[in-house]
Amino acid sequence: MDTTCPQTPKEEIIIPLLDRGFVKLVDFMGSDLRAVNAARVSFGGVSKGEEKDKALIKYLMEHEHLSPFEHCTFQFHIKCPIFVARQWMRHRIASYNEVSARYTQVKDEFYIPTEFRIQDTHNKQGSVASKDLNNEELLKIYTESIEASYQAYQKLLEAGVAREMARGLLPVSQYTQFYWTVNARSLLNFIHLRADDHAQYEIRVYAQAIEKIFKEKLPWSWAAFEALQK
Ligand SMILES: Cc1cc2nc3c(=O)[nH]c(=O)nc-3n(C[C@H](O)[C@H](O)[C@H](O)COP(=O)(O)OP(=O)(O)OC[C@H]3O[C@@H](n4cnc5c(N)ncnc54)[C@H](O)[C@@H]3O)c2cc1C
Repeated sequence: MDTTCPQTPKEEIIIPLLDRGFVKLVDFMGSDLRAVNAARVSFGGVSKGEEKDKALIKYLMEHEHLSPFEHCTFQFHIKCPIFVARQWMRHRIASYNEVSARYTQVKDEFYIPTEFRIQDTHNKQGSVASKDLNNEELLKIYTESIEASYQAYQKLLEAGVAREMARGLLPVSQYTQFYWTVNARSLLNFIHLRADDHAQYEIRVYAQAIEKIFKEKLPWSWAAFEALQK
């Protein structure tokens, strides 16, 4: 048992996001000291007290000697729109299990944004807020289209079409759920890329929520990582 650095009790952490999504921490294994001890096993040592252990973590981060952080593991339950999950699952160094729309009927749960954004002219992928859009009118078009899709989906099911085929007409705003098990090294890479301004707002809010959880669980590692981002 690692005893000299911050440990949080195993209470449930769940952070609601967007209109129907969430990040839930299902389990966590490790501590800052776990990474320290994993690094020191190379030369047969263990913790040398808080000051030296923090300095070691800083050294490991600065010199990209990151494998010791792989010994800390987070397990999350995520609920997010499918288009967010598609971006998320590009992060290959993790384990995923997702709800199946072949086994289960898709629920009437779709992401409805509070405000539309316009295409960014500087970042070709990005979007920016604008007062020029008629948000109310656009939301009507958006929600009517989703409602029509979901009604069509139900009609196909009622007619006997298989779930795996009927789902083909549903939009990517549909909510999905998955389990995500990821080590701290890979999680830092995810946060670095997805909490960044270049990432789409809808995945960024998830990365920012996960950032908070990381900071709570591995405060020394987070401080060393954050110092390098400045
Ligand atoms: C703002 C933004 C825009 C993006 N736009 C696009 C886009 O337009 N189109 C698109 O296809 N993707 C896009 N991506 C996805 C991006 O290219 C990465 O696939 C995604 O961010 C996962 O990052 P990763 O490979 O570092 O993570 P992981 O897959 O978790 O990999 C972690 C690390 O492991 C190593 N690694 C993993 N697999 C391999 C491998 N096969 N070979 C060598 N090293 C490996 C690498 O060091 C990698 O950094 C975008 C990502 C961001 C953040």
